Amino acid sequence: MRVSEAVKFPKSAHEAALENFDLAANALDLSPDIRQMIKYPERILQVTLPVRLDDGHIHRFEGFRVQHSTARGPGKGGIRYHPNVTLDEVKALATWMTWKCAVVNIPFGGAKGGITCSPKDMSQGELERLTRRYAASILPLIGPSQDIPAPDVYTNSQTMAWIMDTYSMTKGYPVPGVVTGKPICLGGSLGRNEATGRGVYYTVLSALEHLRIPVKGAKVVVQGFGNAGSIAALLLHEAGATVVAVSDSRACIYNSKGFDLPKLMAYKEKTGQVLGFPEAQEIRPEELLALNCEVLVPAALENAIDSSNASTIKAKVVAEAANGPVTPDGDAELEAKGVFLIPDILCNAGGVTVSYFEWVQDEQHLFWDAEDVYKRLERVMSTAFAEVLKIHLDHKVSLRTAANMLGIGRVAEAIKIRGLYP
Ligand code: NAD
Repeated sequence: MRVSEAVKFPKSAHEAALENFDLAANALDLSPDIRQMIKYPERILQVTLPVRLDDGHIHRFEGFRVQHSTARGPGKGGIRYHPNVTLDEVKALATWMTWKCAVVNIPFGGAKGGITCSPKDMSQGELERLTRRYAASILPLIGPSQDIPAPDVYTNSQTMAWIMDTYSMTKGYPVPGVVTGKPICLGGSLGRNEATGRGVYYTVLSALEHLRIPVKGAKVVVQGFGNAGSIAALLLHEAGATVVAVSDSRACIYNSKGFDLPKLMAYKEKTGQVLGFPEAQEIRPEELLALNCEVLVPAALENAIDSSNASTIKAKVVAEAANGPVTPDGDAELEAKGVFLIPDILCNAGGVTVSYFEWVQDEQHLFWDAEDVYKRLERVMSTAFAEVLKIHLDHKVSLRTAANMLGIGRVAEAIKIRGLYP
């Protein structure tokens, strides 16, 4: 069975981001002036990318880079390669980056980039030419003090190496700090590759502790067995949880006794899919989301849980490893059911936090060991979790609104103190 990668947008991702902004801005009682200054992107660049394909023809791709806010520091955010990339989606992702960097209190603003393409159907050579053309086209916006891209869906450390090289060619010297998520040999940070999954893991542990649910034996379901989802699954498995179901874009698989995670990861690495893993039963995507479990980790794309399926969710904790996997309508249903939702801008902030560590190490030319990175990451994530939980309990707002209040409140404070008024 094939799971469609097409994403339905009952409400656009950017509309959902704006709706969630309004909820938090109302709870913070933000003035209309401040709202005008922080709600919408500062800069949007749309680029045409002519690339010679292996068959000799030129194909025109469309790319985007959006800087939502640089109020608290340089723009920061990943680059996505996917057939469904639109300007609307990139605007939403850039907006979430602004609040996310503020939630974990790192000195970055929010940005995001994307190219509408089908990377799975492209050769390495085509991907390299596309990436270099894109890097050259967004050159005026990026730089270690301006805007620092990183990997996102279907981009990786190789993509970042090509961007770093293209940027450095224009300067005449290597500039590792222009991107994060680089290979270690080019100034990447130990622990960056697994940072998002590790951050998800820390927040799930905090949530389980708060709810007094033991992690040992807790049943976990992961939608999207990619970088973020698979690492979170592995760490939860190592902590004693039972990962009973996972999915990728091709299939969903289930084993009531739990998977051997290292074996499953090796299988996915070798075959490129989870389908066909021994001792697994194939199930439908809607069955996966509705499984009886303690923790559900949506780690694929936006709008996975909306009003059409939220009522089927049985998980006690939903940990948003992906950006925007639950729509505002889905939020309302989950809240009514008493689900503990760890919002994306908190749950998956481990990635940008270690990107920040990487940027700091590049700027200082001094590199940390992996234990150092993990310890610092755990401290950042547990502090942010405690701050969001406190706002949730004190103000009696949803966890999503609490996280947005923390992030948006910090950006508003920065804008007021900088005195950006006209
Ligand atoms: P990835 O490309 O490594 O993995 C994505 C996975 O989702 C793949 O296994 C793919 O097959 C699967 N997938 C795609 N469509 C699916 C569908 N309809 N049903 C089930 N599975 C599907 O990407 P990633 O880096 O792990 O990113 C996943 C999510 O996490 C995205 O929303 C991304 O924005 C978010 N995120 C990633 C990072 C990071 O550092 N990688 C940081 C923050 C947030």
